[in-house]
Amino acid sequence: MAQYTPMMQQYLKIKADQKDAFLFFRLGDFYELFFEDATKASQELEITLTSRDGGSNGRIPMCGVPYHSADNYIKQLIEKGYKVAICEQVEDPKTTKGVVKREVVQLITPGTVMEGSMLDEKENNYLASLSAFEDGSYVVSYNDLTTGENSVALIPGGFDAAMSELYSRPVKEVVVSNDFDVEYKQMLIDRLDYTVSHQDVTEIAPEFQPLVEEVHQDKLLVGFGRLLNYIQHTQKRSLDHLQPVKVIELKQFMTLDMYSKRNLELLETLRKKGKAGSLLSVIDKTITSMGARMLKKWMERPLLSADAIAMRHDQVEGFLDQFFERETLRDELSNVYDLERLAGRVAFGNVNARDMIQLRNSLSHIPDILMTLSKFDHPSIGKLYDNVDPLHDLKELLQESIADDPPISVKEGGLIRDGFHEQLDDYRYASKNGKQWIAELEQRERTETGIKSLKVGYNRVFGYYIEVTKANLRHLPEGRYERKQTLTNAERFITPELKERETMILEAQEKSVELEYELFLEVREKVKAYVKRLQQLADQISRIDVLQGFAQVAESYQYVRPEYREQRVVDIRQGRHPVVEKVMQEGTFVPNDIYMNEETDVLLITGPNMSGKSTYMRQLALTAILGQMGSFVPCQSASLPVFDQIFTRIGAADDLVSGHSTFMVEMLEANHALTHATENSLILLDEIGRGTSTYDGMALAQAIVEYIHGEIKAKTLFSTHYHELTSLDEQLERLKNVHVRAEEYEGNVVFLHQIKDGPADESYGIHVAKLAHLPDPLINRATALLDQLENGPVKNEASTSPEEEEQLSLFVEESKPEKKRTMEPQASHIEKRLQSLDLMEMTPMDAMNELYQLQKRL
Ligand code: ADP
Repeated sequence: MAQYTPMMQQYLKIKADQKDAFLFFRLGDFYELFFEDATKASQELEITLTSRDGGSNGRIPMCGVPYHSADNYIKQLIEKGYKVAICEQVEDPKTTKGVVKREVVQLITPGTVMEGSMLDEKENNYLASLSAFEDGSYVVSYNDLTTGENSVALIPGGFDAAMSELYSRPVKEVVVSNDFDVEYKQMLIDRLDYTVSHQDVTEIAPEFQPLVEEVHQDKLLVGFGRLLNYIQHTQKRSLDHLQPVKVIELKQFMTLDMYSKRNLELLETLRKKGKAGSLLSVIDKTITSMGARMLKKWMERPLLSADAIAMRHDQVEGFLDQFFERETLRDELSNVYDLERLAGRVAFGNVNARDMIQLRNSLSHIPDILMTLSKFDHPSIGKLYDNVDPLHDLKELLQESIADDPPISVKEGGLIRDGFHEQLDDYRYASKNGKQWIAELEQRERTETGIKSLKVGYNRVFGYYIEVTKANLRHLPEGRYERKQTLTNAERFITPELKERETMILEAQEKSVELEYELFLEVREKVKAYVKRLQQLADQISRIDVLQGFAQVAESYQYVRPEYREQRVVDIRQGRHPVVEKVMQEGTFVPNDIYMNEETDVLLITGPNMSGKSTYMRQLALTAILGQMGSFVPCQSASLPVFDQIFTRIGAADDLVSGHSTFMVEMLEANHALTHATENSLILLDEIGRGTSTYDGMALAQAIVEYIHGEIKAKTLFSTHYHELTSLDEQLERLKNVHVRAEEYEGNVVFLHQIKDGPADESYGIHVAKLAHLPDPLINRATALLDQLENGPVKNEASTSPEEEEQLSLFVEESKPEKKRTMEPQASHIEKRLQSLDLMEMTPMDAMNELYQLQKRL
């Protein structure tokens, strides 16, 4: 240490406690970074790396950012998943000898960002903690610092289930203990892209006890305690706005495992990782950002209680019935500012007068909203506004206290309204009066001295003065004024009276600014007491917003209210895929029925590639989710059971990040479904077994179908290209075959995207080849080979029978007899090639390509 300068010693001491964060070390007008922080930050932020003399050890790498534009740099680092420790000078450098005292005043991390510019309005910003227990259970707790929301859930089902739970929310950062399983920790970083932080302390401080009054399980307290301690450790400021912890009863909500959330593209699409093209983007017709956040929460947690679902549907119906009132309501909602985040900022103590005005304006629109709501005839809407507290008292307080057009700064006055405080009014009067007197002085002096160009001015150094041009000085009576300053063309004077008034004005101004600041802080403190009520109001307004949005969607896209029955019957008439129908030209999406009565558990779907199998499967899952989150659904009519969980294994979601092979991912996802599904679940398995060799894959696929059919009995859609599986309907009575129809139209294959009963035509590929006008002998040969494949073991080249050889040579002769001689070598190549093809592994498209290549050789 001794080799460093005293300031660097101070730096190193502070940095030792902030090992995993970039330390922004305040030096005058800059935040400086040193050593490794500097090298790394200069790369990440693309700023110049310099160096500084650090003592006898020579120069130290350094880079810096101006403090007034630091936000932008901090944001970049946070977005990349880093943490930033802000270290400020906590003493006045003017009054200290030696090194100024410095302290870390805040640790900004991806999960604890409060600054508006770093946040997505429509998304919560969650910090989570994950605690493991010896019996294999986990506790996940969440906090959104911007809104103060807290929740906690006990996950009995192991790490996989805990990951799925975490994945259900926009989590940025996860706090674990220092001895948390290293491999699992790595999975959180690699697979879910979280910043991982550590906290071992789990005791909840006495001042936070009120938050956990409703929590009785020790494990939950440990889990939430970890989270809370981490927040305290990073924030070092008021946490008054934290809301009591909600215990998430997983049994209240449909479980959507991580794979399904991804595969079904609920919140973002697989390929682009963006919101566009997701289910959320299609159905988000909320007006406020609070509403948008709530919608997302509802999508992540569809309901399980038929009554609760029915209540939301009733309300959507209520909004749907009255178009004009709904339009008015939408208009009014657009005037409401983000009350929820505002409440968070109020509690944090960093609102300015403009925020207060926004709050006041938002509140002033609440009565209109309530009035409009009262115009809806549907009784369900009454429930939405009966218990809304419009916070009249808070609105009045803000109305009386805060000036209409306040500045951003809270220290320059202009914040408090006239008439709010007597003393302030007196100061203002004195200052205004003084100014008036000075304005009149100019006129008076001009008349008395006869100097028309005489004027009264003000500058910071001399205060008020009287200015007379040099040319006019001779008109000035001797001794009238006291000379203060000489300019090239003029002289400036003062009088004792002028100075007296000046002192009065300045004093009054200074005092009034001080008093205003004090009064503002008082008001802010008073507003703080409303935080809980504000949060409740925000919640209610968000709910109204989401439900009116559902009505809007139902009307614009012709969704209908689904019906829920006790029986396990799926009966969707003319169902559509909510997202695919939107990206297609209007009217081109082909609706399909989905019907599974109580006696049917598995639909085995066959049909060519690209015919619409997976669209059909997803359609059911998305309809189920929409319905249970309270939205209407895309179809003509729907009768559904309440699904407790949805599992999916749908192609194309190759898990590149984790480095698993496609087949391994397939098996992991299938396993997850098979171990957790109940008879009330929905399982979608798309082309399972494709990732391995034909027989292997087929055997697995069949075994999986049998297992679901015999053991789980969940409603299942199973698509496959193993045509052999279609005969399973003979043994499995709860399995039904359906297929996607493809037709020939004017010599072309047309996918009609229509689902029909029964298995697909197995010779489909050959059918396509025929349509492409491949030579008849070739088609005949392919048919014969197919027959062989279906009715006996596949013969390899060595075992080719004489009859087959006969046929092959026949084929060459018949097709191009005149070229027989020259064609012979190619013919044998074709023969070999044909025989080496593994038809079971090929898609119709592959077959087409192959045939095309073969034909080219003829
Ligand atoms: P498969 O799973 O059979 O390979 P997909 O479900 O991926 O086929 O569908 C392929 C394409 O067909 C989709 O991208 C979509 O454009 C179109 N499609 C699917 N279903 C329909 C439908 N019902 N109506 C119109 N087009 C559809």
